[in-house]
Amino acid sequence: MINNEKPRLAIDMDEVLTDTLRKFLTLYNRDYGIAMDIHQAPGKELHENLPEGVNGQWKIYANEKGFFRDIPPMPDAIETVKALSAHYNVYIVSAAMEFRNSLEDKFDWLGEHFPFIPWTNILFTGDKIISADILIDDRVRNLVHFNGRKLLFTSPHNLLVNEYERVNNWKEVAGLLL
Ligand SMILES: [Mg+2]
Repeated sequence: MINNEKPRLAIDMDEVLTDTLRKFLTLYNRDYGIAMDIHQAPGKELHENLPEGVNGQWKIYANEKGFFRDIPPMPDAIETVKALSAHYNVYIVSAAMEFRNSLEDKFDWLGEHFPFIPWTNILFTGDKIISADILIDDRVRNLVHFNGRKLLFTSPHNLLVNEYERVNNWKEVAGLLL
């Protein structure tokens, strides 16, 4: 049932609720000895910072069953989203069509870490064609056509972007929206 009494807050998963970058680095570290604290050049994707020959491996990791199941939540994400749920109609909006196993893994991950989000408020999509009041996302491609308030969640790949209201972590989200 759509609740229109509270504003709609849409929240991305990868690199916003989940530390997906860390998961990739954990596997690159395990398989190729890549340092967990490898320099992340501002504005570049992880694979652009990795040696040639291994930098395409991330797609194979992302396609593996279970990759998206045990990613660590971002610091303060759970507590903050729980608090936001009192004031907003929170929707989780995540692209889950590129990697077919991600859909089930992401659904189970949300059930473990965000059990207070009902299934009605989970939107697994391709393009994020959605209607909401606020969207928190790390990808400009998801924010650019969005019609509400756009909050860019900081990730190394978006550090050179200046056109959006930026949040660096969940404490800052709490400060802005609670
Ligand atoms: Mg994301």
